[in-house]
Amino acid sequence: MAEHMWVWHDAQGLHRIINVSGTMTSLGASVAAPSVRAATAEAMAHFVDMHELQTKASGVIAKLTGAEAGCVTASASAGISLSIAGCMTGLAPGRVEALPDDPGPRNAVVVQAGHLCNYGAPIDIAIHLTGAQIRGIGTATHAADFQLEAALDESVAAALYVVSHHVVHYGQIPLARFAEIAHAKGVPVIVDAASEYDLKGFLKQGADIVIYSGHKFLGGPTSGIIAGTRDLVRAAYLQNIGIGRGMKVGKESISGVIVAMQDWMDRDTQAIREKERAALNLWLEALHTIPGIRGALIPDPTGNPLDRLEVCVDQAAAGASAAQFAAGLARQNPAVIVRDEMVEHGCFQLDPCNLLPGQAEIVAQTLREVLSDGPALADVAEVDPRNDGVRGYLHWLE
Ligand SMILES: *Cc1c(COP(=O)(O)O)cnc(C)c1O
Repeated sequence: MAEHMWVWHDAQGLHRIINVSGTMTSLGASVAAPSVRAATAEAMAHFVDMHELQTKASGVIAKLTGAEAGCVTASASAGISLSIAGCMTGLAPGRVEALPDDPGPRNAVVVQAGHLCNYGAPIDIAIHLTGAQIRGIGTATHAADFQLEAALDESVAAALYVVSHHVVHYGQIPLARFAEIAHAKGVPVIVDAASEYDLKGFLKQGADIVIYSGHKFLGGPTSGIIAGTRDLVRAAYLQNIGIGRGMKVGKESISGVIVAMQDWMDRDTQAIREKERAALNLWLEALHTIPGIRGALIPDPTGNPLDRLEVCVDQAAAGASAAQFAAGLARQNPAVIVRDEMVEHGCFQLDPCNLLPGQAEIVAQTLREVLSDGPALADVAEVDPRNDGVRGYLHWLE
């Protein structure tokens, strides 16, 4: 592989990293295209009327999603807090300034228990930051229409729905039905679709607001996107005079994500999938004959147009556990960071969607070397702190 890829890491004294785990905050989220990088850099050279820039973003978001309006936030997580706050305050600045201390009479957010996930932080906290109370319905693996109906009274500001691999995938109320029930009681529906490719479907199924990450599949700078009905988007945007201040988004992020969204409209999904498929096949081939190691291609659990390689480990035959192999891969130079969230089940995954040119071959070679030498990892700790949320923060500057 071309050594020039590592010039920046080497000059900064930072670890060389190949990301086959997905779009991870802990790895710097995404790598932006030259067009996006140029837009962020250029924006830094100018003053701009921020409302005008957000108006431009609104137009692009509307075109991309089919929504009436939109705005850019600091992150999807910020988008969740600001959208909920907007549903609580409407366009009353006095109400906005009263948050989070005085949430007012409409202060509950209804969520299915199976949707109360952790995407690096518990979604509960993004809700509570507004001053709202969470009204969970059902149990982790089951929620029913009547429970949603019973929870919706005059104190409810919004109903939140999460589409993600992080949530429970059975026993939940489908979005279209969820929206129908909420709307019958006059309650707006907010969908957290931070990591989803589908930019139109959730609005079509009845969402009033949908939230995406700007720095996940879109490949923009760190940002979030709120798309929805004009008044709810305006109310979310108004939170910038209140709780939104600490979640401020800059002109560079707004300008960059506008270009990322424009690029997305011309994206050749088919060609990208073929490239990803070639990488997956190369890796599958690399581990084909290694004792105790089994690979299989699996589709994305929420239906994004993306496959991953799942590597399952028979510890007795392979000489190390799946967790130890994941940690061992992360110790290489360059570090190969895999998707290890289900490692206690004896498997980890490789995600091809963030590969840079030349990296697929290095990953294949590294897999071959590390996976065929399990006994060398027998004493390796099962966690790599870089890839472990809470421990990563605790270890910092230790
Ligand atoms: C990643 C993610 C978030 C947070 O997105 P950020 O833009 O990083 O704040 C929220 N919800 C879900 C379901 C996610 O996958």
